[in-house]
Order: sequence, then structure tokens, then C-alpha cells
Amino acid sequence: MSLETSFLPYGRHLIEDDDVAAVTAVMRGEALTGGPAVAAFEAALKEATGARHAVVCGNGTQALHLAALAAGIGPGDRVICPAITFLATANCARYVGAEVVFADVDPNTGLITAETAGAAAARAGGAVKAVLPVDFAGQFGDLPALSALARREGWAVIEDSCHAVGTCYDFGDGVTGAVGDGRWSDFTVFSFHPVKTVAMGEGGAITTNDGALAARMASLRNHGTVRTADAFTETAQAFAPDGGAHPWYYEMQELGFNYRACDLQCALGLSQMAKLKRFTARRRRLAALYDERLAALAPRVRPLARTPGVAASWHLYAVLIEFEHLGLSRDTVINRLRAEGVGSQVHYIPVPWQPYYRRRYGLPALPGTERYYARTLSLPLFPAMADSDVDRVFEALARALEP
Ligand SMILES: *Cc1c(COP(=O)(O)O)cnc(C)c1O
Repeated sequence: MSLETSFLPYGRHLIEDDDVAAVTAVMRGEALTGGPAVAAFEAALKEATGARHAVVCGNGTQALHLAALAAGIGPGDRVICPAITFLATANCARYVGAEVVFADVDPNTGLITAETAGAAAARAGGAVKAVLPVDFAGQFGDLPALSALARREGWAVIEDSCHAVGTCYDFGDGVTGAVGDGRWSDFTVFSFHPVKTVAMGEGGAITTNDGALAARMASLRNHGTVRTADAFTETAQAFAPDGGAHPWYYEMQELGFNYRACDLQCALGLSQMAKLKRFTARRRRLAALYDERLAALAPRVRPLARTPGVAASWHLYAVLIEFEHLGLSRDTVINRLRAEGVGSQVHYIPVPWQPYYRRRYGLPALPGTERYYARTLSLPLFPAMADSDVDRVFEALARALEP
């Protein structure tokens, strides 16, 4: 099937024969869940990010929930979350009983900044426990400054990097690394939903450099149970008279969940992780081609502003279109693109505008968010796209913008 003539969605997975073989091998083996693919996937994620610990789980939303629990966030706490993100980022604060304080975003990147986080904290008037910066589209903004603010204020940093596996940075002064390495965050959260860069079907993970937090999340993922003798607290029921722990014994020490990822998911994820460099290189190449082509449509259309020193893995190729100045509705442009076989999507409806959050908090004034949301549109970007598909999207967009 040629992509020349087929519909181009805004994103999609790329599954190859070796991915299928990896999953099939698990299906024919001993362990469908609780087997060796789980630790193997975690090892691959540690290797790719440089983190000391990784905990894999059933999806990115569960990963956010586990991080919020391990950070000790609970009722009475406030958590700062950018207004432009997927619902799950804000929802994880609500799962643990905390209140969300929405921070504005930079209108040209969709990213939270130290300044907007500070303004949100001032609005909250205290009790802020954590900030949840989102690496929107795959890049991060001034995370070093935001992290410094969080350290000063005593906030935990839970970085939502669901868009950003494979993103690297090099600030030219010896400060280099990858998203997930924990340089500026206590927790980094990933999603392996098929529309993201690495696909597991459903899957998520947290990386951290704190072994105690990792152990707590691994326990919470499995009903809050522990299985090692040194962790047991009920010694009379845990240990035999000779001092050894009973062979059947385990303890549930707090209320946890079944948030496990099974070996089928992890085998697919492991096979895909081996391709992370190739997938990321392809996404960067396509984004660079878009940048070149779209220069012809400036200033009506602009790519997201870029953070110098950040080599994003580009989960999304979002552009900013001056719909209002053009006298064109976004609906018209989306429908015209679709008629030419080009999919597009809006990332995201501001989360505080959702009925649930409106009812709870009213509508905060977030001018950067409004300006961002009024202009954003995500164009097709996925590794199986050909270079010529970028031309096809560009030409369809140029026509769609005609009056
Ligand atoms: C996809 C996504 C999530 C949630 O991930 P799931 O695996 O779908 O649960 C959270 N935050 C952001 C920013 C996302 O894009």
C-alpha cells in the first residue's frame, strides 16, 4: 500500500516483522505475565534514558498515578499543571485527592515556564506540593529554571514526558543527557500508547534515580505488596522458628493496585525500544523537512518555537496558524485537509475548559493558553511517512489556507 494515495493520520505506530516475532515468542513461552520481559524492558528504558531505576506499568496514566502516590501527594495538597496537556496529567492529582492549579503556557511553544508556574503558585496561595511540567510535542522549555524554582519551594517535580522518549539535550557547557535521566525531575513519566514514539499497545513507565521511590512504585503497582524478608514488618507471622521467612509469605503494607504491564506488552516495547534511535532520527528529519517547506507560508503558519540545545524526538508536529487574521475557521482547514487525505488534530483543548474542571475551579485567566489554543494544529508525523508525504501535506495546507 503506498502512502502516496492513502490517508495520512496525524500519527501512527510502526510495527515490523521482528516486533511481531518478539510478541509471538512470549505467547509460545512460559510466562505471559510476571516473566523476564518486564525487567528486560525496564533495563532498556534505563539504558536509553540514563536513569538508575525504571518501573513499567499498564499505561501512562497509571504511571502518573504511581508517581503522584510515591511523591506523597494527597488531600489538602495543590499540584501545578500546565493548561495545555492531555487530561491524564491533571487527573493524576485528583486521583490522590489533591487540587489542580492550572499554569499558563508560552503561546509559541505550549510549554509551562518557571514564570507561569510561579504565577500559578501565587494564585494558589500555598500548599503546593508538586509541579507537573509536560514535555509538549517532545521538547521541554526552561526546565532547569523551573526545577530550581521547585527545589527552592520544596515542590516535587513529576515530568510528564509521555511525548518525549528519545529527546536529548546538549547545552554546550558539558550539560548533556536524555529526557528521563532525572537531572531536573524526581520522576519522569512515559506513555507507550501506539500514537506515541514507542508502542506497547498500552504501556507506561516512570524513571527515577531514587531507589526507595522506585521500590514503592513497584509495590503499589502490585497491590502494595512486598516479598523480600528485609521488608516484612509482621515478624511473628512472617518468619519460621529457625528465623527464615515462610516460603509462601508476602505482605500488603499499603493499598495498591494491579497496574502491571504483562510480558506481551513488554516484549513489544523492548523490540520497539531497540528502534528508538531510528524512529527518533526519522521524526527529526521529517520535522526539519516540514520546517523548510512551511517557511514559504510564514507568517501565516509557523512551527512551534524551539528551545535551543534540546533535540526533541517530536511526538507531534504542531504548527501555529493565524486562523483569525486569515478569516478562516480551523474547522474549514481541517475539513479541506481531510478531503485531500491529510489528517490533523488539535493538541489540546485547554484542560481547565473541560466541564469537570470548570465546575470545580471556574475559568482561570490564561492568556498564553488562549493564544496557543486559537492557533494550534498538529500535522501528520510518524516514522513510516516518506519525505514526499511532507510535500503532499504542505501542498494540501497551502491550498487549504486560500480564502
Ligand atoms: C498519552 C499521554 C498521557 C497518558 O498516557 P496513556 O498511556 O494514554 O495513559 C499522559 N500525558 C500526556 C501528555 C500524554 O500525551
